[in-house]
Amino acid sequence: MEQNGRMLSAIIPAYHEEANIPLVADAVAEALSVAGIEYEIILVDDGSGDGTFAAIEKAASRESRVRGLKLSRHFGKEAAIQAGLAASKGDCCVVLDADLQHPPSILPDMFKLWHEGAKIVQGVKADRGKESLLYKAFAKVFYGLISRFVQIDFRRASDYKLLDRKVVDILLALPEKTRFFRALSVYYGFPQAEIEFPVAPRGAGKSNWSLRGLFGYAIDSISSFTAFPLQITTYIGSVMLVIFLVLGVQTLYNYISGRAVEGFTTVILLLLFVASAVSISLGIIGHYIAKIYDEVKARPSYIVEKETGKL
Ligand code: UDP
Ligand code: MG
Repeated sequence: MEQNGRMLSAIIPAYHEEANIPLVADAVAEALSVAGIEYEIILVDDGSGDGTFAAIEKAASRESRVRGLKLSRHFGKEAAIQAGLAASKGDCCVVLDADLQHPPSILPDMFKLWHEGAKIVQGVKADRGKESLLYKAFAKVFYGLISRFVQIDFRRASDYKLLDRKVVDILLALPEKTRFFRALSVYYGFPQAEIEFPVAPRGAGKSNWSLRGLFGYAIDSISSFTAFPLQITTYIGSVMLVIFLVLGVQTLYNYISGRAVEGFTTVILLLLFVASAVSISLGIIGHYIAKIYDEVKARPSYIVEKETGKL
């Protein structure tokens, strides 16, 4: 049963996933062919140092519907997704993790929702799977912040998504270099559907995010979505002004009534506070300037070194 000959492209970014490649490629192929859906699988090696690309080449040689891209170095998951989307030919694209945490078994249901008119089908985490306490806490704060800024609930959102060709083309045409796929795809307001999936335990290997990496990702994502942190300076400044007015009146009163001196504690505290507020504000401004610099340079966000499989 072929569904109107409409094709689905499954895009799988992979970084150090040597052992998972054959598993995920097979699982996706199986889920889609059983449902009679026309598909291609695009595996993107995000500059891994292990045999990930060799595994991709092997998978591609076994199955003509599997293709592979190798980025010239490690560019990050967002870039790998973008490279995969750019290479895709399907009428819709699904992005899923290589580590089998995104169960391919729901692919036919996602496809069906798309068939029924959804331009974006979101995979929503039924639970967050097994994660360390620290990771959980971090994810909570991060998504809490983002949800506030962007006014979309990201707490259960994932990168497991199906996008209509139209949405993919719009995403690819965006001029910005630093992207946050998870948020961008909901930003445009196309008709959406959601589908819950249980987060499976990771296949082989371990999560490739270091705490530092995640922190950087969080900061990049927030700042590519909102300039609000720049305005925090103004708020801190306003609070400082109020404190200054109160203390100013008190100081003047002390001076006039001849009870000056003392109050060094206040001076020290104020100095420390002002100094840290100013440094933090400068840091925030610096971060945005760095981002502007990156965007202005307009370098490509990824470079494809090699391709494999039938094009
Ligand atoms: N990944 C990638 N580049 C990176 C980090 C991760 O392409 O720099 C891929 C990884 O191979 C996997 C997916 O992104 O397919 C999710 O990564 P991971 O499982 O490490 O993250 P988590 O599940 O903890 O979000
Ligand atoms: Mg994972």
